[in-house]
Amino acid sequence: MRLIFLGPPGSGKGTQAALLEQRHGLCQISTGDILRQAVADGTPLGREAKACMDKGALVPDRVVIGIVEEKLKGRECEKGFVLDGFPRTTGQAEALDAIMRDFPAPQAHRIDRVVAFQVDEGALVTRLSGRRTCGECQAMYHLTLSPPRVEGVCDRCGGRLVQRNDDREEVIRERLAVYEESTRPLLEFYGGRGQLIRLPAVGPVEDVHAALKAAVGL
Ligand code: ADP
Ligand code: AMP
Repeated sequence: MRLIFLGPPGSGKGTQAALLEQRHGLCQISTGDILRQAVADGTPLGREAKACMDKGALVPDRVVIGIVEEKLKGRECEKGFVLDGFPRTTGQAEALDAIMRDFPAPQAHRIDRVVAFQVDEGALVTRLSGRRTCGECQAMYHLTLSPPRVEGVCDRCGGRLVQRNDDREEVIRERLAVYEESTRPLLEFYGGRGQLIRLPAVGPVEDVHAALKAAVGL
C-alpha cells in the first residue's frame, strides 16, 4: 500500500506513520527526519536546509524532491510506503506524479490513498510545544499526552529525549502559517482526483491508528 499523509505540523503524521512501519512493514519516508539527520551530520544538504528549518520555512522543492526520489527507488519501499510530510507544495505534488510515471511498469508506483489529518489549531500548539523526540532512535513522546516511563529518557533505547529547535512557540506559529499557505491547497489537488480521505486525528493514538487502518482498508 502506498500512502501520502497530509496535515499540519503536530497532527500526528509521524506517530501514525511509525506505527504503520512497525506493524505493517510500510516504509516511513519522513522528509523532516531525513533533513534533521542531514543537519546533525553536517552534510552539504544539512547546511543548506538548516536555516530554512530553524525559522519554520520550507526547504526548496528541488532539495526535497531529490531526497524522495532516491528513497522511493530503494528496495525498502517495494512492500509499500508512507510519505510523511511530503509533498508540501503543488510543485512537489507534480514532481511526485512525474516520479511515479517514470517507474518501470512491473513496479509502477501508484498512490493508493491520501490521508488528511485533521486536528484543531489549539491542540496542534499544545502537541508541538510538548513534543519530545529521542535523539538516538527518533521515537516520539509528549511531555503530558504520551510521556516516557522515566522523564527525559527513551523507553525504547534509553536515549536522551530532546526538543526540536522548531518546536518553540514563535516558530510553531510560522509553520502553521506556511501549512495554510503552501500545503493546504493540496487538499483540493488530491480531493479533485477522488484520492483524499479526511481523518479526524484526535483522541488516543491507538484509536487514531484503528480509524486510520479502517479508512485506508488495512
Ligand atoms: P507530525 O508528524 O504531524 O508533526 P507528530 O506525530 O510528531 O506530528 O505528533 C506531534 C506530537 O503530538 C508528538 O508529541 C506526539 O507524541 C503527539 N501526538 C501524536 N498523536 C497524538 C494523539 N492522537 N493524541 C495526543 N497527542 C498525540
Ligand atoms: P516536519 O518534521 O515534517 O515537521 O518538517 C520539519 C521541517 O523540515 C519543515 O518545517 C521544513 O523546514 C522541512 N521540510 C520537511 N519536509 C519538507 C518538504 N516536503 N518540503 C519542504 N520542506 C520540508
